[in-house]
Amino acid sequence: MSLEAVRAKGLLVDRAWIGGQWCEADSGRRFPVFDPASGDRLAEVPDMGEAEARRAIAAAAAAFDSWRQSLPQERAAVLSRWAALMRSSLEELATLVMHEQGKPLAQARGEVAHASAFVEWFAEEGKRIYGEIMPTNGVDRRFLVLRQPVGVCAAITPWNFPASMITRKVAPALAVGCTVVVKPAEQTPLTALALARLAEQAGMPPGVLDVITGADPAPISLALTSDPRVRKISFTGSTEVGRLLMAQSAATLKRLSLELGGDAPFLVFDDADVEAAVQGAIASKYRNSGQTCVCANRILVQAGIYEAFVRRYVEEVEKLAVGPGWQPGVTVGPLIDEAALDKVEALVADAREKGARLLCGGRRAQGLFYTPTALEGITPDMRIAHEEIFGPVAPLYRFETEEEGIALANASDYGLAGYLYARDVGRILRVAEALEVGVVGVNTGSTSNEAAPFGGIKQSGFGREGSKYGVEEYLELKSVCLAGL
Ligand code: NAP
Repeated sequence: MSLEAVRAKGLLVDRAWIGGQWCEADSGRRFPVFDPASGDRLAEVPDMGEAEARRAIAAAAAAFDSWRQSLPQERAAVLSRWAALMRSSLEELATLVMHEQGKPLAQARGEVAHASAFVEWFAEEGKRIYGEIMPTNGVDRRFLVLRQPVGVCAAITPWNFPASMITRKVAPALAVGCTVVVKPAEQTPLTALALARLAEQAGMPPGVLDVITGADPAPISLALTSDPRVRKISFTGSTEVGRLLMAQSAATLKRLSLELGGDAPFLVFDDADVEAAVQGAIASKYRNSGQTCVCANRILVQAGIYEAFVRRYVEEVEKLAVGPGWQPGVTVGPLIDEAALDKVEALVADAREKGARLLCGGRRAQGLFYTPTALEGITPDMRIAHEEIFGPVAPLYRFETEEEGIALANASDYGLAGYLYARDVGRILRVAEALEVGVVGVNTGSTSNEAAPFGGIKQSGFGREGSKYGVEEYLELKSVCLAGL
């Protein structure tokens, strides 16, 4: 599908969405959105700042009372219509995701389907916000526990999943009666604005969902973190920015969910199915050109199968097709921008200078493309041994015993995802329990689903998205003591 076809369907939107109005920036300024695969300018969107952020907060605050008082079934109906519109506009949304973010079309379609599944899930879950009655301390007393919406929330999202990173925050918040201001990443505002257009078509009342765009995140984020009307911030992005937002939110003591960076270990034990492990590692490592928070960041292989694994891994990596997302058969797209490419190049150069051996790839292709790469001989003094790579580069490590594998896997400040391939059920349970992460994939390189809780520990943050636990992030408990009964 062409971008012209997306525009014809009204889904190439170039204004922000505040209080049920499509708006320009107060200054009239706009900033460009580029396609990382072609370098083409796709659109320009409003370059907003603090004043517009405060207006969006005011709109969300004004909408809160009536939205929270609407029946759960009414909110569910709006969300269900939104999800259905996302499904019926899957090609349009996937085209936008592919063009502004760079992932191959098949992966973009997968992301949109995943994004709509969160909306459908939480539409249902919002009907099941049960309270409790607690044991009493007097015959004339009862304790009730109510679960009530937190209030106005802000969602600050990254560019790597422009659709699903928004819906997994917005859908649970709206389902339980909160209203939300979204600030999408500056590289990928078009998917967010298309989602807002579909929310409008689904009959979402003005102000319930607001989307503001800006080239400089600082003034917008500062308004969101400092305004007392915002009661909760849900952020997905880097650990560095997560810390900054947490510090900024301290003065107004906001609730926080922080989905931050990762350094996923991918363990392959001697008893693993090597072919399955190779396929799982490749899916985990090179999806979205290695730009996911759950990408295998370190592939740790036990000595008995190390040589066999590496040989088959390199053979399969060399088959990956690099190119623009719209070309049939492409599996690896570009990196998001020049800075991302520079970082990947610097990590590989540093590792090679310090003695790592290049097994395949290791060079820039045209534009923002980087060839899928594997390295071995990694030592602790190399940057790649400690940093989130966020690119299509796999460092391979060899370990001897199960204990050593676990220790290597846990030797990280991060704790988001971890993977293990093994057949022995005892080992599977021992290792899954020992990994210091929030999400474990056993004999799979892909774990994300709306029905399961997702989130990290350690420097990967806190809070959970998806599942019945995902709504808790947007609810307060209120105790009601009834006396004199
Ligand atoms: P990022 O630089 O932290 O940006 C994320 C969001 O924060 C964007 O909306 C960005 O706005 C905003 N932001 C950036 N600097 C800011 C500042 N100084 N003050 C306020 N807001 C600011 O992260 P990214 O590069 O987009 O995404 C990659 C990171 O996200 C990786 O570390 C990855 O692991 C992590 N991630 C985590 C998860 C998870 O679920 N745990 C999922 C996906 C990604 P601009 O776009 O305008 O800069």
